[in-house]
Amino acid sequence: MNLMDGTPAYRRWLDDMQLGHPLTIAGPCSAESREQVLETARRLTGGRVTVFRAGVWKPRTKPGNFEGVGEIALPWLQEVKKETGLEPLIEVATPYHVEAALRHGIRMMWIGARTTANPFAVQEVAEALRGNSDVIVLVKNPVNPDTALWIGAVERLMRAGLTNLGAVHRGFSVYNPGPYRNKPKWQIPLQFKRHFPGMPMIIDPSHICGRRDCLFDIAQMALDLQYDGVMIESHRDPDRAWSDAAQQVTPETLHDIIRRLMVRKTNAQEGRARDKLLEYRRHIDIIDEQLLELLAERMKVVREIGRLKRSHNISLLQPQRWNEVFERAVRFAARHGLNEDFIKAVFTAIHEESLWQQKNGKKPED
Ligand code: PEP
Ligand code: MN
Repeated sequence: MNLMDGTPAYRRWLDDMQLGHPLTIAGPCSAESREQVLETARRLTGGRVTVFRAGVWKPRTKPGNFEGVGEIALPWLQEVKKETGLEPLIEVATPYHVEAALRHGIRMMWIGARTTANPFAVQEVAEALRGNSDVIVLVKNPVNPDTALWIGAVERLMRAGLTNLGAVHRGFSVYNPGPYRNKPKWQIPLQFKRHFPGMPMIIDPSHICGRRDCLFDIAQMALDLQYDGVMIESHRDPDRAWSDAAQQVTPETLHDIIRRLMVRKTNAQEGRARDKLLEYRRHIDIIDEQLLELLAERMKVVREIGRLKRSHNISLLQPQRWNEVFERAVRFAARHGLNEDFIKAVFTAIHEESLWQQKNGKKPED
């Protein structure tokens, strides 16, 4: 992809690393002490981890929680690099953070979800990074499910001359996140990927799950969707972590998760076809989930209508209204190349179920 003046807007910096496997980023949610940082880093070596993450300044939802140790952690990260070779990666949210990071030789930074949601803050960070085109910047998705806001943040960095860019999918803060801390909403990162083809997309299962037992499944799903890397929080003593304790894992568990992940083989012809098939199936799974969510939403509204009709003594079946719904669906189907009989069957089933839902909340057993 090119900017209007013809300069490359982003580089495939990940190819330079020649990893032969997904980029693996691990490290604690927060840097707490020199010992905690160094011990965690040491125990993270010897596997596939090449980048060591640690939050130095922590954006907290509520005041009074641990807000990070601040700049004193930066020399600890220099030590990590020197002793283990792991590349440090920290979160930056203000020009001050960027300047301090640069002064301490940090060459990888991420922009957090709360910052991505704020164009003023992203612009300031981008300006502070101007002239440091070798720095790798990973942009987390904004807290709210808004693809354009995410894309806009990346564009601000591009306009500041940064080309080593990547994206991190950490899930979205929604009213009803289901079993997750932050709902994955896979369709949004897929949209982002279509907008910036080739830009590395990294999964952050820790902030999606908010707990340990679903990290593997989310990471595997992402690899099946051809993501380029994983970022997982790991702490030497997770239960005693000063932030995000419930979702962190020990370095040993981290190694185990990474070892179990199935990585696609994109070289062999046969492997490619299989991988593509798996990717399509994952897309189908995502679409099916959306279909089911929409049906559940429709039935909720239908039950509201039922209550309203009952309280105003209006008849349940309103044939004219139903004909309109039905006809509209058939017309829509024709425009989208959908088989008319199929759509009629689907809408008849939906209508029948809706009537039961309006009447008594559920269909009796046959
Ligand atoms: C983090 O990675 O620890 C963090 C604060 O992430 P996010 O911005 O995704 O909440
Ligand atoms: Mn965290």
